[in-house]
Amino acid sequence: MGIRTVEQYKESLRDGRRVYIRGEKVGDITKHPILGITCDTIAAGYELTSLPDPALRDIFVAPHPKTGEPVNRYFITPRNKEDLMNRTKMIQRSIEMIGGLPFGKDIGTDCLNAAFVVAGQMGKKQYQDNALNFLEHLRKNDLHTCGAVTCVKGDRGKEPSKQKHPDYYLHVVDKNKDGIVVKGAKIHITSAPAANEIIVVPTRQMREDEADYALSFAIPANTPGITFICRSGRGKWSDHEFHADRPVRELTEAMIVFDNVFVPWERVFMCGEWQFSMLLAYTFATFHRFTAISYKVPAVEVMAGCAVAMAKYNGLYKVSHIQDKLADIAAYVETLRALANAAAQDPVMYGDIAVPNPLICNMAKLHFASKYHNFLELVQDIGGGILATAPDKKDWENPDIHDYLDHYLGGSEKYSTLDRLMMIHETMRHVCSHESAFHEVTTVHAEGSMAAQKMMILAESPLKRYEAMAMGAAGIIPRGSKA
Ligand SMILES: Cc1cc2nc3c(=O)[nH]c(=O)nc-3n(C[C@H](O)[C@H](O)[C@H](O)COP(=O)(O)OP(=O)(O)OC[C@H]3O[C@@H](n4cnc5c(N)ncnc54)[C@H](O)[C@@H]3O)c2cc1C
Repeated sequence: MGIRTVEQYKESLRDGRRVYIRGEKVGDITKHPILGITCDTIAAGYELTSLPDPALRDIFVAPHPKTGEPVNRYFITPRNKEDLMNRTKMIQRSIEMIGGLPFGKDIGTDCLNAAFVVAGQMGKKQYQDNALNFLEHLRKNDLHTCGAVTCVKGDRGKEPSKQKHPDYYLHVVDKNKDGIVVKGAKIHITSAPAANEIIVVPTRQMREDEADYALSFAIPANTPGITFICRSGRGKWSDHEFHADRPVRELTEAMIVFDNVFVPWERVFMCGEWQFSMLLAYTFATFHRFTAISYKVPAVEVMAGCAVAMAKYNGLYKVSHIQDKLADIAAYVETLRALANAAAQDPVMYGDIAVPNPLICNMAKLHFASKYHNFLELVQDIGGGILATAPDKKDWENPDIHDYLDHYLGGSEKYSTLDRLMMIHETMRHVCSHESAFHEVTTVHAEGSMAAQKMMILAESPLKRYEAMAMGAAGIIPRGSKA
């Protein structure tokens, strides 16, 4: 098959999976008012791989490395910086063209790429073969994957084996000659209810007495024992919003419960090798933060554009304090773009797999997460209080009050009141809405909390070199010597 159509993807979801949202079990998720939006958002990725213009389509489709057949570019395991640059370009262009998030194959392949690296480091041929066979299965059937990493974790101050019960972290409860049985729950898993395959990796380092928690595998979403409990997202645009001619883009997250789920050995990439759990979690985090810094670039570009446009609509574009704020906004966005490119250009090689530069990926993720609220404040500041109080589309369309709104809500005379109101609504969506509050929390936590990035930055930074430089400067050791 290689490249699926939108309809083939949607049909594949009618497979008896067990999905709940707002307290109700869902039959056909493609038809559900909230989950249907998730399906459509992922389906947009299948539109991109079927584009008629080959120059555009080739951003999203690549030749299979052996057969040359077209496959989704997400299924190209990065071998060099060109592959990483192509991946970041694909992610950025997908969002520019469609909106939303990068369409569901991102985190699954981040997990699988990490599993490849770790299988190589373990020297376990069986796991390498399993990962390769699974990749071929994804390529051939053009499957949508989610990545299930985050366990529910219980008491964060306690290790997996010291919790009140053993199930706060996903673990093996049985093994036989055919496979393993797993129990536990993963949480916040993006697009999970609309995935074909779930790829699991450990959420953290495991110790010797936690070998049952050192676990990685892939499993179809309709496997018996799997239940998805979904976040209640937004539905379609209401008549009160100015965006009605565009589709809403959203990827619903879910808690995935694994209630004694059987996983055949050929789908297992780690089972008990606790010494490698840290490397798997760490390598996944690096790949995934690279995905994150790639998709955040177009996301924050739109918000920066709202600030530029609102400054103009308000007639204040040239005012010095507004220019000062726009400079800060541009620096935030361009630092992120530069770091995303730098992470791709300076990979670390594990065998023949190119891992985006871990130090730069973590710096970039920390940059966008730690400064995001400040960036948001600048956009809110430039836009004005109208971002919180603007009348809606129904007001604009009501002839009783339309002329008042047109007369009193104008800004710079270069622009129509309607354009100003439409830009106010777009800006509200990003900085003063239920959706924007969701993104504030997401920016802090998704792809790992800031403490996790700082841990990796400390591990990757040349602190010893800094110290030697200072000791040399102080005359304690000869200048230029190593500490
Ligand atoms: C919208 C969204 C989408 C997501 N998508 C996915 C996905 O697709 N797949 C996936 O696997 N995950 C996903 N995540 C999960 C994300 O990676 C986690 O939210 C993140 O790793 C933080 O974990 P947590 O939410 O359990 O927070 P918590 O662990 O509860 O963290 C809260 C705070 O406690 C601190 N903390 C936690 N444990 C310790 C400790 N032992 N010692 C010291 N401090 C600690 C953290 O640093 C943080 O400051 C998503 C999250 C969001 C919000």
